[in-house]
Amino acid sequence: MQTRKFGNGPDVSVIGQGTWYIDRGDRKSAVAALRRGLDLGMSHIDTAEMYGDAEPVVAEAIAGRRDEVFLVSKVLPGNASRRGTITACERSLARLKTDRLDCYLLHWRGSYPLDETVAAFDELVAAGKIRRWGVSNFDTDDLNELLAVAGKERIACNQVLYHLQERAIEHAVIPWCEQHGVAVVAYSPFGHNDFPSARSKAGEALQAIADAHGVSARQVALAFLTRRPSVLAIPKAGTPAHAADNAAAGELVLGDDEITALDRAFPRGPKPRGLPML
Ligand code: NAP
Repeated sequence: MQTRKFGNGPDVSVIGQGTWYIDRGDRKSAVAALRRGLDLGMSHIDTAEMYGDAEPVVAEAIAGRRDEVFLVSKVLPGNASRRGTITACERSLARLKTDRLDCYLLHWRGSYPLDETVAAFDELVAAGKIRRWGVSNFDTDDLNELLAVAGKERIACNQVLYHLQERAIEHAVIPWCEQHGVAVVAYSPFGHNDFPSARSKAGEALQAIADAHGVSARQVALAFLTRRPSVLAIPKAGTPAHAADNAAAGELVLGDDEITALDRAFPRGPKPRGLPML
C-alpha cells in the first residue's frame, strides 16, 4: 500500500475506506469489509455524524485496533458553532467508542463564521480529542478565506468529489491544495453509484488498461485519481471482496501513455462555476 502525506499530518494509506450508507446493508459484511480493508493496509477510515449509524459500525470494526486506524469524522455545518462543534465531536467520539479522532472535518461550508469553527477545532486539539482538522467541499474562495482565518500549515485536508466523470477539482482546487500543503481526499471515487459501464466507449478504454494489468477497472480508476502525490481516495465497500479489490489499487501505478488514454476517454471539461458536490 502506497502512502501519502496527509497535509500537516503523518503519511496515510493512499486508498482509504468510505462509510456513507455502510449501515444500510448487511452489518456483519460491513464490519468484515472494514476489517479486511485494515488487514490490507487501508488504514484511513472516513465517516461523519451525517452518515446515520455508520459511526457505530466503524466502532465495531476498529474495536481492539484503534492504533492501526487514521480515523476521520465530520461535523455538520448546522452544528459548526463554537460550542456545537465541541458537542458534535464528543458525540462522534462516543459513537465511535474512541477518545480521539485523527482528523475532524467541517462537512461543507455553512452559515457559522469560519473563525468560530476553527476556534472550536483548536480547543479540541488542545484537549487531545482531535489530532488535526480539515474541511470538505471547499472551493478556492472558501479555502482562501479559511487560510486568512487560520494561518499557514493548519488545514490538513480538503475532501472533495472526484471521479473519472467529474474532474472539476483539477482546474483550481488541486493546484491550490498542492501550493498550500493541503491533502486532497477524493470522495465518491467510483461516482457513488455511477461507475462507467464497460459497454460505453470510455468504459472500454478503461477496461483495456485494466486487462493489460490483469486488474479491475475500479483499480485503474483509483490509480488514475491518485496519480498526483497530493491526492488520496476513499472508496466505500460493503463486502470484504470489494475492500480487497480496492486495497490492491494501492500498489498500482499507471504509465504515462495510460494516463493520457484515460485523460482522453474521460475529459476534464471546462471549469464549472461552482464546485460540484454530492
Ligand atoms: P463510491 O465509493 O464512489 O462508490 C461506492 C459504491 O461502489 C458502492 O455501491 C459499492 O458497493 C461499490 N464498490 C466499492 N468497491 C467496489 C468494487 N471493488 N467492485 C465493485 N463495486 C464496488 O461512493 P461513496 O460512498 O459516495 O464515496 C466514498 C466515500 O466518500 C463515502 O462512503 C464517504 O465516506 C465519502 N463521501 C464524502 C462526501 C462529503 O461530502 N465529504 C460525500 C460523499 C461521499 P458495495 O457497497 O456493495 O461494496
